[in-house]
Amino acid sequence: MLPVTKKSKMRKRTRRSHLAVRPVHLIPCPQCSQSKLPHAACPNCGYVNAHTRIKVGTQES
Ligand SMILES: [Zn+2]
Repeated sequence: MLPVTKKSKMRKRTRRSHLAVRPVHLIPCPQCSQSKLPHAACPNCGYVNAHTRIKVGTQES
C-alpha cells in the first residue's frame, strides 16, 4: 500500500516536532542529595518522606 498523497517535508517535520525524547527529570534527595526520580523512593538511602523509609541494598530477608 502506498500513501494516497505525498506529505511534504514541512508537514513531516511539523508532525515530528512533538516526538523528541525529553530528558529524564531528576531531583536531589533531601536526605543524601543524590539524584532521584520525583515521587519515588531514593535508590541510595530509601528515603520516601519524613515518616517513611524503605530498605535498599543487598540486605534482603
Ligand atoms: Zn537519598
